[in-house]
Amino acid sequence: MATHLLPSDLLYAYAAGHCAPAMRLLISTQMQLCDETARRVEELEALGGALLERVEPTAMSEGALETVLARLDASPAETSGSTAANDDDVEAFPAPLREAAREALKTASWRFAGPGIRTLTLPVDGHAKAELLRIQPGSGAPRHGHKGAEITLVVRGAFRDETGVYGAGDVSVASPDVEHRPIAEPGETCYALAVTDAPLAFTGALGWIQRAVQA
Ligand code: ZN
Repeated sequence: MATHLLPSDLLYAYAAGHCAPAMRLLISTQMQLCDETARRVEELEALGGALLERVEPTAMSEGALETVLARLDASPAETSGSTAANDDDVEAFPAPLREAAREALKTASWRFAGPGIRTLTLPVDGHAKAELLRIQPGSGAPRHGHKGAEITLVVRGAFRDETGVYGAGDVSVASPDVEHRPIAEPGETCYALAVTDAPLAFTGALGWIQRAVQA
């Protein structure tokens, strides 16, 4: 069965400020594309502080919740408009992703990654990598496996692989033992944000992906 929503563990790590920056970018972007995700994060935050404090008093850093709330409040209007990337599609992205793409386009450009596919590496701290994919309808990545975990958020358009069809706001969670061949659906150009890393790196000690794989 396809996983179109992120595992709760990962959203919880986000709410608690434990997510790798690349994953934070993906979740904050998804929250603007998917009401269900935004609602789940809010619920976790409502439970979260109290639970975390009970389990491990020092787990939540000073101001972590404020940071998350500030992020939730961030609206497209507050971002600076002075660094136009001259790319209409990028300008239409949710604010967190748009800012990252604008930043990337200052020093890099879309790279050819196969027929109909271009990629843009986004500047994020930490080990996890964030890459924006631009896939023409009917084109796709070759069949591949994964050394680590790969989480892909569809930002616009849609793609299909062996596990299902993913539209805007959906995430595909590929564990290291999954092989797949994503192909963009007919219609508009598909944009997707792919975050990759070793299985445990997204949330540190929480290790959600190990549990997800074992489930
Ligand atoms: Zn993959």
